[in-house]
Amino acid sequence: MPDDMPAEESPTTRTLRPATVAVTAGRPPHTTDQPLNVPVTFASTYVAGGDLEYGRYDNPSWAAFEEALGRLEGGRCLSFASGLAAVSTVLDLVGHGAKVVAPRHAYNGVIGQLGDLEMRGRLTAQLVDVTDTDAMVAACEDAALVWLESPTNPALEVADIPAITRAAHEAGAYVVVDNTFATPLLQRPLDDDVDLVLHSATKFIAGHSDVLMGAVATRDDELYGVLKGRRDLTGAVPGPMEAFLALRGLRTLHLRVERAEANAQELVRRLSEHPAVGEVRYPGFGAIISIVLAQGAMAADLLTHKTSLWVHATSLGGVESTFERRRRWKVEPATIPDALVRMSVGVEDVEDLWDDLRPALDGLV
Ligand SMILES: *Cc1c(COP(=O)(O)O)cnc(C)c1O
Repeated sequence: MPDDMPAEESPTTRTLRPATVAVTAGRPPHTTDQPLNVPVTFASTYVAGGDLEYGRYDNPSWAAFEEALGRLEGGRCLSFASGLAAVSTVLDLVGHGAKVVAPRHAYNGVIGQLGDLEMRGRLTAQLVDVTDTDAMVAACEDAALVWLESPTNPALEVADIPAITRAAHEAGAYVVVDNTFATPLLQRPLDDDVDLVLHSATKFIAGHSDVLMGAVATRDDELYGVLKGRRDLTGAVPGPMEAFLALRGLRTLHLRVERAEANAQELVRRLSEHPAVGEVRYPGFGAIISIVLAQGAMAADLLTHKTSLWVHATSLGGVESTFERRRRWKVEPATIPDALVRMSVGVEDVEDLWDDLRPALDGLV
């Protein structure tokens, strides 16, 4: 975790550490009879003459969530109806015919949007191996936007964010990092001069597999204003209940990430020694592991049907451990191994997770 040391020791002015920010940010003031949490505001409209006006423009439940996630990322935050609603709003910033550089293994919904926009003549997309920093830097030259995702979903490739950001800025391009896998606790891209950070808050931020939401954070007030304007115009806003649940989830982000990461690191050690596992991909941090089954795609499918704690389900970042063979989705790039199983490690007891997994793996060799 970034360990911001306080500049001054006054409790109101000092820089709080991330765990404290997760718990305390976005709350009402400590005055008598105030609730401790911002209540859910179900409102399509507000009495005129103030700041809020209409439910597509503002909602106190979004504002509380945005305050907390913005503080964690070190910028101002806007919430969206889903991760992909946030992606679409960011891609809207790109001028007609301009070039976007993106990882060839970016989240398949991002690749899907880029392909769709390219087909309709809106922009051109260049997909690059994000681990090849020289190729990424070269691709930046005539780009308007450089899209980064690190680690990537589900290949778990890591980008050299500072080097690529420098090259992009020299070329006058904006840089966005999809920080869904790392969370602001393990990686703060705005500190590396990145322009925009994006989240599928559906995943670790909300953390309980019950909410679809997205978010963008930035330190650039102009970009913030443009994105807010696009969100007002398109209505890609979350529901107030979703924002409330996502903020409730965020309150324990540090505890969940710490436990899930510890579980993942232990499982990586054990999986690496199991003969049914041909390859373990793990970037060294976080709670997502990808394994490639030695016996191929059929073994991968068998594995995901032979456990009782591990749930066969898509998505990730919840308190419960889930896994799936990614190529069961036709939209997944063909360069992702057919026998790759992406594992989202939850916060259960790691011994129970292994006791569930090991016999299923044993049955494959
Ligand atoms: C899930 C995901 C998205 C899309 O978010 P939704 O909330 O499902 O729309 C974007 N990026 C990454 C890395 C994801 O895992």
